[in-house]
Amino acid sequence: MPIARRGLVLVLSSPSGAGKTTIARGLLASEPDLSLSVSATTRAPRAGEVDGRDYRFVSRETFAHMVEQDAFLEHAEVHGNRYGTMRSAVESVLARGADVLLDIDWQGANQVRRAMDGDVASVFVLPPSLPELERRLFARAADSEGAIRRRLSNALGEMDHWDEYDYVVVNENAEAALQQVRTILHAERLRRRRRVGLRDFVRQLKG
Ligand code: 5GP
Repeated sequence: MPIARRGLVLVLSSPSGAGKTTIARGLLASEPDLSLSVSATTRAPRAGEVDGRDYRFVSRETFAHMVEQDAFLEHAEVHGNRYGTMRSAVESVLARGADVLLDIDWQGANQVRRAMDGDVASVFVLPPSLPELERRLFARAADSEGAIRRRLSNALGEMDHWDEYDYVVVNENAEAALQQVRTILHAERLRRRRRVGLRDFVRQLKG
């Protein structure tokens, strides 16, 4: 019998282009007990994005209504669009003792920490250099040049928040960065305070 534990919220943030999405995908593919909280956003879908899988794409009106209904654990405006983590998405995962991954910005990370501090482990991903960040943003080519320029200048501001996180990973190499985040997740799962079954386990151990 595995020792019972409480699920945790793994928060992953980074300036766009630092490789956070690749890390998140790799992590989800290899960790069956981890699921992604699909955020709601007012941003238009990019080519290939699927409603309900990548985001729940909603109008500004619907988003405002959801805020009024207190549907969000956190929400923030990023690059001119609104994004929010739905309480229901997080709570249902934690309730079954699994872990939930939040791919959110620093403003959201602050709100989640305030709301559920003991259940949160936060990781900030940095690019190895500014030219490399620029290269990655242009290589992705999912946005217009104007949007990329805006993301790049926002990235500089976002980077200032690195010291609000529990862990910082410098993404020199995608595979190595993924491995580091995986190690963080595995260690966080082993924290004594999350392993609610330990007391009973030790009691039984002593006979
Ligand atoms: P993108 O538009 O490129 O998918 O995401 C832009 C930024 O918004 C990323 O930094 C992403 O982490 C952040 N983001 C995505 N979903 C949420 C959310 O639910 N809440 C917050 N605060 N940020 C989010």
